[in-house]
Amino acid sequence: MKLSPLTTTPRHSAYDVVIIGGAMIGSSVAWHLSNNSDFDGTILVIEKDPGYEWTSTARTNSCVRQQFSNAINVHISQYAVQCMKHFREYLGGDPEVPDITLQSFGYLYLAGSEAFADILRDNQKLQAACGAGTRILMPQEMATAFPFYNLDDIVLGSHNPIDEGYFDGNTMFDWWRRKARQNAVEYLSNEAVSIQRSAQRVTGVTLKSGERISAGTIVNACGPRAALTARMAGLDIPVEPRRRYTFIFAAEKPLGQDLPLTIDPSGVHVRSDGGYYLCGCPPDEDPAVDYDDFYLDESIWENKVWPALAHRIPAFEAIKLMNAWVGHYAFNTFDQNAIVGPHPQVGNFIFVNGFSGHGFQQSPAMGRGVAELICHGEYRSLDLSELGYQRLVRNAPFLERAII
Ligand SMILES: Cc1cc2nc3c(=O)[nH]c(=O)nc-3n(C[C@H](O)[C@H](O)[C@H](O)COP(=O)(O)OP(=O)(O)OC[C@H]3O[C@@H](n4cnc5c(N)ncnc54)[C@H](O)[C@@H]3O)c2cc1C
Repeated sequence: MKLSPLTTTPRHSAYDVVIIGGAMIGSSVAWHLSNNSDFDGTILVIEKDPGYEWTSTARTNSCVRQQFSNAINVHISQYAVQCMKHFREYLGGDPEVPDITLQSFGYLYLAGSEAFADILRDNQKLQAACGAGTRILMPQEMATAFPFYNLDDIVLGSHNPIDEGYFDGNTMFDWWRRKARQNAVEYLSNEAVSIQRSAQRVTGVTLKSGERISAGTIVNACGPRAALTARMAGLDIPVEPRRRYTFIFAAEKPLGQDLPLTIDPSGVHVRSDGGYYLCGCPPDEDPAVDYDDFYLDESIWENKVWPALAHRIPAFEAIKLMNAWVGHYAFNTFDQNAIVGPHPQVGNFIFVNGFSGHGFQQSPAMGRGVAELICHGEYRSLDLSELGYQRLVRNAPFLERAII
C-alpha cells in the first residue's frame, strides 16, 4: 500500500491521542494502539526530526538481552524475542513484512572482583527463575568456549546464548511506522513547542508552525528530550541526555567465531558486527550534556577503548578503526529503568521514557502496554506497573543493576 507523503500541517484540529516523538518507542505505541480492536479513535504522531538523524533510535547498538537484575525487564525482553520471531504474524500476516534477524551470540558479563561476581550469581538465579538460559562460567570453561580471551584477572563470567544478542531493530522500527501509517495514524513533520493544561488534564499541543491541536491523551515518547516535553506540561521527569560512544573496527586476525557481547570490567563492551566488531563505552566522566551535543572525543578510542580491547583479547592488538559515532542515552538518573504510564496528577499525560540504554528491545512491550493503558485503563498482558511514575512520588527507586 502506498503511503501519502509526510506533511507539516495537521489534517484535523483535534485528535484522541497525540504522540510526541515518532521514533522506535513512539512508533511502537502508534502501531499497537492503532491495531487494538478496542480503539477506534484518531492518532497523531509529531516528529521534529523525520530523518531520525539525531535520535537514539538511529544511533543504537540494537541488542537484546535477558541478563537484567529485575524480573520485569527479563519478561519484557522475552516478549521482544517472541515478537521478533513471529513478527510477520504479529503485524497481521502481510507477506511483505520481512523476518527479523536475531543473532544469539549472547552477552558475556565478566566479573573482575568478588563483589561483582556475587551480583552476577544473584542475577543468574533471578534470570533462571524467569526461564532465561543464563549460565555462570568459570575461567577454565570460558577459555574452552572462547579461547581468545585473556582471563588472568577474571573471577567468572555470566553468559546467555539463548535468544540474546543482536537483532535487526531498524527493520522492526520501519514496520511499526509503516503499519501505523497504513492504519491511518497521521505522522507530522513538526515540533511540539508547548502543551496546554487545565489543572488535572492536558488539553492540547502547540506546534512550532503555530497551529494548536486539541488532544484527548498525550504520550511523551521524546527519548533524551523527555524532560523538556514533560516541562511543557508543568511536570518533571528525571531523564537527561548522556553521551555514549560506538566504534566499529576491523581485526587483522578475526577471531574465527562469533564474539559474544562482552562486558569488560573496564566498562568497555565489544561484540561481533558482521565481518567487523562493534564496541562502545560511556565516558569516564558522565555528565548530562546539551541536547545537541554529539561531540566525539577521539582520545577515548586511543586511551581507553583500544587498550582495554587489547588487554582482554590480545588478537585485538592489530585492529583498524572503521567508523565511530556518539548517541544519547535517555538516562534515568533516579533508577536507570523505564518510566511508563500516566502522571499521578495528570492522568491523560503518559510517559514512555528513561530507558537508559535498553529501550530498543523494550519497544514491543512498551507499545503494547501503553496501548492497553489508553484503551482499557489497565495493563492486560504484561503488568508494567513496577515501572510507573508512582515510584518517583514515593521516592522508592526500582534500581536496574545490569546497565551497560
Ligand atoms: C549508543 C547507544 C546504544 C544503544 N544500544 C542499545 C541496545 O543495544 N539495546 C537496546 O535495547 N537499546 C539500546 N539503546 C537505547 C535505544 O536506542 C533507545 O532506548 C531507543 O532508541 C529509544 O527510542 P525513543 O523513541 O524513546 O527515543 P529516540 O529514538 O531518541 O526518539 C525520540 C524522538 O522524539 C522526537 N522529539 C523529541 N522532542 C520532540 C518535540 N518537542 N516535538 C516532536 N518530536 C520530538 C525526536 O526527534 C526523536 O525522533 C542504545 C542507545 C544508544 C545511544
